[in-house]
Amino acid sequence: MSRLLAELGAIVGPEGCLSRDEELFAYECDGLTLHTARPSAVVFPRAREQVQAIVRCCRSHGVPFVARGAGTGLSGGAIALGGGVVVECSRMNRVLAIEPVDRFAVVEPGVVNQDLSRAAAPFGLFYAPDPSSQLVCTIGGNVAENSGGPHTLKYGTTANHVLGLELVLPDGEVVELGGPTGAAPGYDLVGAVVGSEGTLGIVTRATLRLSPIPERVETLLAIFSDVVSACRTVSGIIEAGLVPAALEIVDQRTIRAVEASVYAAGLPTDAGAVLLIELDGPAVALPPQIERIRRLAQGAGALRIEVARDAKERQRFWRARKGAFGAMGRLAPDLYVHDAVVPRARLPEVLAAVCAIGDRYGLRLSNVFHAGDGNLHPNISFDRRDPGELERVMEAGAEILRACVEAGGVISGEHGIGSEKREYMGLVFSDADLGAMLRLRGAFDPDGVCNPGKIFPTTRFCAESNPKARGYDRVPFA
Ligand SMILES: Cc1cc2nc3c(=O)[nH]c(=O)nc-3n(C[C@H](O)[C@H](O)[C@H](O)COP(=O)(O)OP(=O)(O)OC[C@H]3O[C@@H](n4cnc5c(N)ncnc54)[C@H](O)[C@@H]3O)c2cc1C
Repeated sequence: MSRLLAELGAIVGPEGCLSRDEELFAYECDGLTLHTARPSAVVFPRAREQVQAIVRCCRSHGVPFVARGAGTGLSGGAIALGGGVVVECSRMNRVLAIEPVDRFAVVEPGVVNQDLSRAAAPFGLFYAPDPSSQLVCTIGGNVAENSGGPHTLKYGTTANHVLGLELVLPDGEVVELGGPTGAAPGYDLVGAVVGSEGTLGIVTRATLRLSPIPERVETLLAIFSDVVSACRTVSGIIEAGLVPAALEIVDQRTIRAVEASVYAAGLPTDAGAVLLIELDGPAVALPPQIERIRRLAQGAGALRIEVARDAKERQRFWRARKGAFGAMGRLAPDLYVHDAVVPRARLPEVLAAVCAIGDRYGLRLSNVFHAGDGNLHPNISFDRRDPGELERVMEAGAEILRACVEAGGVISGEHGIGSEKREYMGLVFSDADLGAMLRLRGAFDPDGVCNPGKIFPTTRFCAESNPKARGYDRVPFA
């Protein structure tokens, strides 16, 4: 170990390598604080050549490694299971180029999501994927998780905005995948790497699509007495052929937590739910859309509809949504943020089922979610010091996932599988499906040294028929 540390220190300099217990503590988990693993060391490379040298050094010592961005991931993806080396990319944070005519940017992986839009703004451009963590999360993490966000509904996930990647393979080789034109003959390996959760290599550079800043943005807040009416409005809007930039629902428990917190946005605490609707596009096109949405929301039982008068008011509306996770700290010291997708039309019944599960387990469950995508985030607030509470949280979480899959959904919309949900992969994939993914992984990382222990179940299934037809009854547990 001391030789490994000395070699790593020689690569990144002594100020670029952490190895004392109290220093490593901060890297034991990501946003999922339930899963912890202490790394052997944390290194902070500044350039691709250093990443290559780190990877080769780890290989020569037989030590696994895991890339890390801001550590905001919610599925335990950036933790070093088995005590590997964390390769922390935050010092590789340069925007290398912005090409306004061809509308792309070239960035290092540690660039913070929102900083890219800031850098592109003088050119009238922005980077569309906007996870709610965009103030801190990095492009490397976004690429690895194929992150979404409130504006995924109109603009798509990260996958729709990655044109090319530079990747340090687990053996230290560098490959260039895709390119600025977005047209790349042969296998779509950019597509394979996006969403691969850091298991195929370390991204050291990304070429990303930029979009024109819309001429006008309008933000509406529709207040409902219950969450089902808010969901019906979402279905109505989509059915009417409208494509808002965002459709987000915040339920009553979340509203109350937000209003009691520093994120208070003046939402009525007796409302059953609020629906945040954002429209963007040419100025002339938006007023008729606002009117149609107003009518649809009123028809579905909206008690009140507000239209933000200016940017300040728009920020106030969004504060309630974006501050929701932070506000949960008002309810309990621990928070388990779930993530699953269901067909939009089934949102009302699935939400009812999810709330019933929370109630049955006696848990404080609240919902704030990307309704337009059917992407649910049931949040369970709890205190792990209370005897038995953690077990109930985990059991309820498993039931929630099963309910979503039963409704035709999947087990993650944007937070990834990581170490959190690997044992649930059998809910949605057959052995053959998983085998194909494992073979792809093996082609990049035959020795399994790059972020091991993530995505794939540790137990083998004994499925003899199509699991998708059989539903949740074959979920394996370790
Ligand atoms: C309050 C809050 C709100 C959130 N809202 C959203 C949301 O709206 N939408 C959404 O999708 N997610 C959301 N997330 C989850 C999280 O922010 C995203 O998954 C984000 O993309 C993680 O970025 P990061 O830089 O923090 O990555 P990390 O957590 O550090 O890492 C995540 C994964 O990426 C891998 N990785 C990191 N850098 C690299 C690299 N250079 N090369 C290869 N692999 C790499 C890691 O190994 C790990 O598997 C939210 C999280 C929080 C805490």
